[in-house]
Amino acid sequence: MSDNILECVHCGRTSDEVPVISVEYQSNNYGICPQHLPVLIHKPQMLVGKLPGVENLKAEGHDHH
Ligand SMILES: [Zn+2]
Repeated sequence: MSDNILECVHCGRTSDEVPVISVEYQSNNYGICPQHLPVLIHKPQMLVGKLPGVENLKAEGHDHH
């Protein structure tokens, strides 16, 4: 069965509760809600362990002092 309910990789809420944006990454589909989309964009390291391979996504610019 194609059960295509996406859930936010960050908070786990599904499209039953919030709008969930479908994101394709490394040929897999993930969902993320609008509230956590900025996390994916700006702080992808916060999704390590939730989104496989996300540690390869480096935010632009250095966090280095
Ligand atoms: Zn979320």
